Amino acid sequence: MGDYFQTIVDLDATEQDAARLGAGLLDWLIADGIVSAERTDCVLDNDGYGNAPGPDYAKAVDDPEPVELWSNGLHVATGRTVFDSGQGEAGAATCPLCATEIRLVDDTWCPVDSAWAPFAGRLDAWANGGEGVVECPSCRRPSGIDRWSWEDDYYACGQLGLTFWNWAELTYGFEQEVRRRLGGHRTVTLRGKL
Ligand SMILES: [Zn+2]
Repeated sequence: MGDYFQTIVDLDATEQDAARLGAGLLDWLIADGIVSAERTDCVLDNDGYGNAPGPDYAKAVDDPEPVELWSNGLHVATGRTVFDSGQGEAGAATCPLCATEIRLVDDTWCPVDSAWAPFAGRLDAWANGGEGVVECPSCRRPSGIDRWSWEDDYYACGQLGLTFWNWAELTYGFEQEVRRRLGGHRTVTLRGKL
């Protein structure tokens, strides 16, 4: 078995406000008892340190079974990050300008090199501070890879992400409250496994 994670990524937070927004969310989650204030060895990223579930963590999830795995914490990541879903492949990407969906895998779910060509290296370029410009194979117009959307939210480019390790599925209401506290920013939720 592996470790499951859910990452709520803020698509609108800027480099300037990501840290403040992340700290504000963490304060709220601690105050509401959803995570513990103390940072302990309980996540699989960020050198292992995060906030373990708090006494009222069940308020955030659909199925409040106790979490017994040691890696059950929250990690708040700030700064330019390409979030991904771990195992598997991205199935398709959608152009932000013409909404054409580009299939990236074949019928056996293997990546298709020719389909990937316009995207090659762009995620790394963006992560390293560049624009990662992709020329859309359909409309031929350029746009930053951070503006493309991905099937099943396989990838998300953002400045702020909250990763919950091995929690039951976060409720719609909880995600809505996160968005409200982010000032109505757009978010996507990645669900993956390591
Ligand atoms: Zn296009």
